[in-house]
Amino acid sequence: MEDWICRAFKTNLICIRRGRHQPAPIQDGVEMPFRDMPWRAWAAYAVLQAGIAAGYAGFAALLEACLPSPHPPGLQLGLPLALALLLRQGGRVWPGLALGMLWLAWREPGLQAADKVLLALSGLGAALLGANLPPRRRLPFFRLSDVLAFLGGAVALSSLLATLGRVFAWMPAYAHRLPELAWSGAQLWLGNAALLLALAPVLLLAGSHGRGRPGAACWRETSLVAGATLLLAILVCCGLNGRGGHYAILPYLFIMPLLWLAFRSELLLAHGLSLAIVALVLAGAGLGSGALTIAGAGESLLNAALLALVQAVTLLVFGALLEERRQVERRLLQANQSLEAKVSERTSQLAESEARLRLMADAAPFPLAMNRLAGGELIYANERAEELFGASLQPERALKVQDFYVHAGERDEVAQALRVRGRVEDKEVRLKDAQGREFWAQISCAMVKSDKIWYVINGVSDISERKQLEQSLHDANAALRRQVDEIEVLQQGLREQALRDPLTGLFNRRHLDEILPRVLDHMLALHRDVAVLMVDADHFKRVNDTYGHRCGDLVLTALGAYLSDHFRSGDIVCRYGGEEFFVLLPGASLEAAFTKAQLLCEAVRRMEIDAQGHTLSVTLSIGLALCPLHGEDAESVVLAADEALYQAKQQGRDRVCVAAPLSQALS
Ligand code: GH3
Ligand code: MG
Ligand code: MG
Repeated sequence: MEDWICRAFKTNLICIRRGRHQPAPIQDGVEMPFRDMPWRAWAAYAVLQAGIAAGYAGFAALLEACLPSPHPPGLQLGLPLALALLLRQGGRVWPGLALGMLWLAWREPGLQAADKVLLALSGLGAALLGANLPPRRRLPFFRLSDVLAFLGGAVALSSLLATLGRVFAWMPAYAHRLPELAWSGAQLWLGNAALLLALAPVLLLAGSHGRGRPGAACWRETSLVAGATLLLAILVCCGLNGRGGHYAILPYLFIMPLLWLAFRSELLLAHGLSLAIVALVLAGAGLGSGALTIAGAGESLLNAALLALVQAVTLLVFGALLEERRQVERRLLQANQSLEAKVSERTSQLAESEARLRLMADAAPFPLAMNRLAGGELIYANERAEELFGASLQPERALKVQDFYVHAGERDEVAQALRVRGRVEDKEVRLKDAQGREFWAQISCAMVKSDKIWYVINGVSDISERKQLEQSLHDANAALRRQVDEIEVLQQGLREQALRDPLTGLFNRRHLDEILPRVLDHMLALHRDVAVLMVDADHFKRVNDTYGHRCGDLVLTALGAYLSDHFRSGDIVCRYGGEEFFVLLPGASLEAAFTKAQLLCEAVRRMEIDAQGHTLSVTLSIGLALCPLHGEDAESVVLAADEALYQAKQQGRDRVCVAAPLSQALS
């Protein structure tokens, strides 16, 4: 049973601590509506509220005892505690507070019951108003807007409301002294506001968790400043004789160390010390000494209230500004840390990526190098490239890509092509390694841009072996071509030999048999005549018989040469066989051919031929035929010419006979 009561009491405490927005108590992890609460829980709740009421009344009584006598009547001494409880614990504490306020008002002499109720209600209303005006769920000291709301709402309005209740309660006694009532009311308002400002921050901050504590590391300086300030405050606020008003400014100077403490140490400590200074001023007023103790106790209390107001407002505003700055610094720090973490992560990603790329390039199965386009400085070469060029890239020894070109012009061509087209593919160039060994290489290049600088990636293949093979193939081809040319020359010679008569060099009868039909067909198609001459040396047998066969050959050679010279280049002279010749005169008319043949006969008749020391002369018999007059085919034309030759022989030789016309021959 006792355990259950303890749990119920604890439930109420939890309920109160959870604030006004979570009104339902929790039992065994389940929210429990108030109407379902058992009577034991209600009893525990009532005990708690009674405790709050007693605490409230005790707090007010303690303050009353501390204030110097005579103190101004009517101050709502418990108001700071009520405000702090409502702000920290929520609206659940209001019954206890109302009870405490009613009890305090009931104890006041000279007031009607209604005035006492009014007094208690105004106090409760002031506390509720003050607790609900500032931003909820957070202490109103860490933002300037919250501080201003606290000063305007919690301090000014709630102290005004509490003061108005008191003024209404006094009104019957001040019936004919309203100005005096107004002055007393104003003083009371100032006093209530000063009480709130001096005590509420200390009560609220005392229960907070670590806010406004930046300077825990400088506890020595904090102790020194706080101790020195307290000693000086005792001296100034209690020891000096301020009746002349000469030292009234001195207590206000304590704002400097208070601000230092707020900045370097804890805001709570600064407010606590501020409260201590105000308390010392009040103590000085009670003792009748101190810098702010001017005349009567009333004026001294007014001075203390003003000092409390100035100090508290300054600390609240400064503390809020300080906290806002710290929050900005914290956010900046967090942002900076987040940024640094991202940069670090990105840097490590880049490093990993670069390592992977380098690994891939190093393991590439072909030489790979990278250089700057502008200057040609090599900045990377994989193992295969270093092997090929017999050099390794070292930071202290700068290598340039142009150092490895045999011809500088080729490197310029590559650079120019890169600038124009952005890449070079399968270009064959002459390169050399670090030892000067020259070799053929096939290169492919591409450009990449990084940090506004153009780089060239070079893929290189050593094609020396292929080039050697190509060269030997080329040489073999040339040799083969020469042989083919020689063979063709030989074949041409053979062809010529087949067509030529070896003795005279004229075309032979085989050639005549080949070309005669073609010439006739061609000229017939052109409707042109072709004259043919069948030429025979007269009594040639006698030449052989008289001077020998060799002499006869020489005569035949001389005749052939003369025939070649006698006719035009377009005419065709053949040795038909033995001492017979055949001449083709394409395009010649019958008359022209006849004249030509007669001139030939006359010329040969007069011709003297030297042969082996003999001067010989021969005559010719010529048979003339015309295509198409004597026939339109080779056989007919040759036959006609042969018959004409026969006629010439018959008629006595050394003459020209024309073949009979075709119609005559047919008849
Ligand atoms: P004709 O006036 O009737 O033509 O009398 P011919 O002696 O010229 O005619 P024939 O047909 O009887 O004789 C031709 C001679 O030509 C026979 C041959 O000795 C000679 N002859 C033929 N071919 C050659 C040759 O190539 N060289 C030499 N030296 N003589 C040849
Ligand atoms: Mg003959
Ligand atoms: Mg003859």
